[in-house]
Amino acid sequence: MEKKEFRSESKRLLDLMINSIYTNKEIFLRELISNASDAIDKMYYKALTDKDIDFKKDDYFIKILINRDNRTITVEDTGIGMTKEELESNLGIIANSGSYAFKKDNELKDGYDIIGQFGVGFYSAFMVAETVTVITKPYGSDEAYQWESSGVDGYTIQSAQKNSIGTRIVLKLKENNEDENYDEYLEEYRIRSLIKKYSDFIRYPIKMDISTSRLKEGTEDEYEEVIEEKTVNSMVPIWRKNKNELTEEDYNKFYSEKHFGFDEPLKYTHLSVDGTLRYDAILYIPKEAPYDFYTKEYEKGLELYSSGVLIMNKCADLLPDYFSFVKGVVDSEDLSLNISREVLQHDRQLKLIAKKIKDKIKDELSLMLKNDRENYEEFFKTFGQQLKYGVYSDFGMNKEELQDLLLFYSSNEKKMISLSEYVEKMAEGQDTIYYASGESIDRIDKLPQVNFVKDKGYDVLYFTDYIDEFAIKMLQNYNEKQFKSILSSDLDLGEETDHTTSEENVEMFDLMKEYLKDKVKEVKGTAKLKDHPVYLASEGELSIEMEKVLNQMPDGANIKADKVLEININHNVFNNLKEAYETDKDKLKLFTNLLYNQALLIEGLPLEDPVEFTNNIWQLL
Ligand code: ADP
Repeated sequence: MEKKEFRSESKRLLDLMINSIYTNKEIFLRELISNASDAIDKMYYKALTDKDIDFKKDDYFIKILINRDNRTITVEDTGIGMTKEELESNLGIIANSGSYAFKKDNELKDGYDIIGQFGVGFYSAFMVAETVTVITKPYGSDEAYQWESSGVDGYTIQSAQKNSIGTRIVLKLKENNEDENYDEYLEEYRIRSLIKKYSDFIRYPIKMDISTSRLKEGTEDEYEEVIEEKTVNSMVPIWRKNKNELTEEDYNKFYSEKHFGFDEPLKYTHLSVDGTLRYDAILYIPKEAPYDFYTKEYEKGLELYSSGVLIMNKCADLLPDYFSFVKGVVDSEDLSLNISREVLQHDRQLKLIAKKIKDKIKDELSLMLKNDRENYEEFFKTFGQQLKYGVYSDFGMNKEELQDLLLFYSSNEKKMISLSEYVEKMAEGQDTIYYASGESIDRIDKLPQVNFVKDKGYDVLYFTDYIDEFAIKMLQNYNEKQFKSILSSDLDLGEETDHTTSEENVEMFDLMKEYLKDKVKEVKGTAKLKDHPVYLASEGELSIEMEKVLNQMPDGANIKADKVLEININHNVFNNLKEAYETDKDKLKLFTNLLYNQALLIEGLPLEDPVEFTNNIWQLL
C-alpha cells in the first residue's frame, strides 16, 4: 500500500504534536468530540432538509470506547462521514482545517504557545496516540475508507468495512514514559470527567459503557459487575442554561472550545430573550484582535442556531462591520431551519435579532466605558480603529451611534478621553474642539502650534491613527461643537493673526510664493509658532496628514493638500528675510527654498529635490 506524505506545514505541526511537551494534552478528546458533533450537525441538517433520509433522534450520538488490552480509545460518531477525497484533503493537509488559523510564516518554534493559543483540531490526537486510525463511511455512498498514520512519515488510505454512516477514530495510545502516563486515558472515570469538563454542552449524547457493581439478584451481599451504556454529557447547550448557574470560567471555557479566539475574552454577555421574538445569545469581546482582523481575509459573523441546530458558522448579517470583532452564538426558535442563506439575509426575524444584538453590544461598550475604564481603554487600543472606521464608512450613517464610544489622547489630561469629556472641560468661551494630527503623541507634542494653543488654555486632541481625521471630518461636529485642526492655516484664536501682514510684508510674501510656484498656495506670516521659524500648514478640508494617507493608497496618489508656508514673524529669520528682500533678491530666493524644504522635513514629507536642498545649504555656508 502506498504511503502518502503530509504537506510540509502539516508535517511541522504534526511533529510538534508528537513531541509535544504541552501539559494540557487532555484537550485531544474535546477536539475529537467537537469534530464528531460538527459531523452530526451536518447529517442532522441534511436529514431535516431531505425527506428521503429516515433518521430518528436516537440515531445521532457519539460513542467513546476504551480498550485496556489494546491500549486504544475510540471516538465514534454517526455524523456525515468523509469521502476518500475528503479524507485526503481534510486530514492530509492541515491548511484545510478551519481552526488552523495562523499564518504560514509563523515560526513553529515554541510548541507550547502554539498549542495553547490555537485550536489544532484533529492533529491533537497525536499528542497522546502513536497511531491514529480513521474509518469512515460518508453519507450517500456504500464505500468505506480507512486512513491511518503513525506520525510524520505519512499516512495511508485504503478501502475498509463499515456498516453505518459515520466516522470511527481509534487512537492507539503512546507508551508511558518517565514524564507522561498515557494510561490515564484508559481510565473510565478520567474520560468521563474530561467529557463533563469540556464537552458537557454537546447537543448529542456522548455514550460510554460504564461498569457498575450491583447486588447480585437473589443475594444479600454478593456484588456483580455490570456494563451499561450511559450518556455522560448533560446535552444542554450553555446558552440555554440559566445565567445564575454559570460562572465566568464556564463562559471562558466555551469561548476556547468554540475556537473564538486564542486569548481569553475581555468581556462576555449572555442574553435570553423571551418575548414576541425569542432567542438566546452569548456574545464575546475578545481581548486580542485575530491576526487577520485588519485584513480583507477576516470574516465576521456569529454562529447561528435554530432551536439548537447549527445552521451557519459565521452569520455575517448578525453583526455590523464596526462590531465585527464580536464573537459568539445566537440560537432562535423563530428561524426556519430550511432557510437558505440568500433568503436568510432578508429574513425579518433575523434582522430584528441583528438590531437587538447591535444595541446590546453598544450598551455593553458604553457601560464598560463608564464603569470599567481600564478594560475599555484596553479594548479601544485593540478595536478602536474599527469603531472609527465605522464612523467614517457608509457616508457617516452610523456616526451618531458610535461617536460616544471614541477615545482620543488629550494634551491636557495626558490620557485618552471621550468627546463628551472634552466638551465638559472646555474653557470659558471655547466653542471649538481642537485637534492636531501627526505620527505619534511625542511628535505632536513637539509641534509649536500645540504649545501655542495649550498656552491659551485649550485642550488639544491628538490624532495618531490614519483614520482619525477622516472620521472626524465625517462627524463634522459633536454636540454642536465644530472640530478644528490647529495645524490649518486659518486657525484663528483672536488677536495674534492680524498685525502680521503690513503692506510691505504682503509684497515680500507674494514674491516668495512666486519663487515656490504652485508648491504652496500662499506664503504668510504668523505668530503661532513660538520659537520655530517656519511651518507648513494646510488650508481647506484636506490636511497634510490626510494627503500622506491618501498617497499610500493604490488609487489615491497625487492628491495634494493646499499648503501654506507660514513664517514666524517673531523669529529672527523673518528679519533676515526682510533684509534680503530689501537688498538681495537672490538671497531671498535661496532663503525661501531652504525654509520650504525645512518645513517639508518638519512635516515628515519627502524632499522634492534633496540635491538642490544640500546645494542651497552649502551656498549659504
Ligand atoms: P477543524 O475541525 O477545525 O476544521 P480539524 O483538523 O479538526 O479541523 O478537522 C479537519 C476537517 O476534517 C474538518 O473540518 C472536517 O471536515 C473533517 N473531520 C474531522 N473529523 C471528522 C469527523 N469525525 N467526521 C467527519 N469529518 C471530520
